[in-house]
Amino acid sequence: MHFDVFTALTASSSVVLLLSGVFAFFWHRHANSPWLRYWALAYLAIGIGNALTIFSPVSPRPLGFAAGTAVFFIGFGLIWQGTRAFEGRKPRWGALAVAVFGLPWLFALPDVQSHPPLRVGLMSAIMAAGLALAAWETWRGRGEGLPSKLPLAAMLAVAAATVLARAPFGAAAAFPIGARKADDIVVIVLIGGLVVLAIILAMLVLSVTLERAEKSQRDLAALDPMTALLNRRGIEAVFADGKLPAGDALILFDLDRFKQVNDTFGHAAGDVLIRAFALICREELRQVDHASRFGGEEFALVLARTDARTAVKLAERVRDRYGRLVVEIDGGAVVGTVSGGVFAAPPDEPVWFTAAVAAADRALYQAKAAGRNRIVSAERGATPVTSRDFDERCIALEARAASA
Ligand code: GH3
Ligand code: MG
Ligand code: MG
Repeated sequence: MHFDVFTALTASSSVVLLLSGVFAFFWHRHANSPWLRYWALAYLAIGIGNALTIFSPVSPRPLGFAAGTAVFFIGFGLIWQGTRAFEGRKPRWGALAVAVFGLPWLFALPDVQSHPPLRVGLMSAIMAAGLALAAWETWRGRGEGLPSKLPLAAMLAVAAATVLARAPFGAAAAFPIGARKADDIVVIVLIGGLVVLAIILAMLVLSVTLERAEKSQRDLAALDPMTALLNRRGIEAVFADGKLPAGDALILFDLDRFKQVNDTFGHAAGDVLIRAFALICREELRQVDHASRFGGEEFALVLARTDARTAVKLAERVRDRYGRLVVEIDGGAVVGTVSGGVFAAPPDEPVWFTAAVAAADRALYQAKAAGRNRIVSAERGATPVTSRDFDERCIALEARAASA
């Protein structure tokens, strides 16, 4: 069998077109992954562009070449847009238009046509630019925590470097890359390498797509839809080894007499209070802390590197803010109070999360037993009562509503 550059290029076009079909299939399956559309069209354009440059008549070739080159550039521009879309960035249609309408005509110029090394060099540089931009976009989004993202950025960079490395072969290579007669093993190996790269890139793009879908499922399963805080499973998953780290503090909150809140103000008003409480927790916490809706009207907060004293202070601040909150619903004022239990792990020893929860829960129980609307630390016993009694407030509000 005679395996020449022409055959290799034809085969490479077929593989790339096939991969375009694979992208289209996955795009069909994952309608909320718009980047797959860019990748499908990119591979389609590269496959067609490649075929157009191969099969355009040898002489004169300018028109076929310009058309092929334009479609080719669309392909590499779309790869760049595909990586932008994956990162949630808007497409750069302007830059793409310049590449498509501005640059191909360079290749139709007689001087460029008659200097294959120049032509190949220009072509390689433009393709490499698209790939390098794609590598850059992917690298910028590396913090997302998808395992295949760094390999994808690396392979895009490798592809850019490989395409650029093609430039020096222009003079030596056979038709249609260069001007020499066919049968250049170097070029065939290079084309083979590019096809392998195209396959690896496609696999990595599909891989990050599936990883993101899986991550969003996982994140969703860890979230409480009503408050957008973590749910119980979510906060437990934060501590993969099942332990509250040494020196971290845990606060358990339970909204006081919530059945009564529901009975007095209605279930919808209760929901509003739960959301308001979640918002207060969120506002009081730092980036390194975690807040979760542990159960119906129960919340668990984990404070990183925080001693019991500081945790109690924060819990008091949350309790105070919630106690002073008055939510207006349908002309009525809705109020509530909250009790909390605090447990802090020793500075040098992690504690089983379940044990920490049990300790904080015991403290919370003491806070309830002591009359509610207070914070109790597992180590230090009850802190003094500092605010008004919830029942008194309810009675006062009911009286006000009755007299209105
Ligand atoms: P205390 O904690 O002060 O001892 O009294 P409580 O009335 O809060 O006691 P308990 O924990 O037994 O009751 C919790 C109530 O919270 C029962 C349930 O109707 C209510 N609740 C739980 N989840 C929700 C919710 O999502 N929305 C509303 N509105 N109420 C909820
Ligand atoms: Mg409760
Ligand atoms: Mg309660």
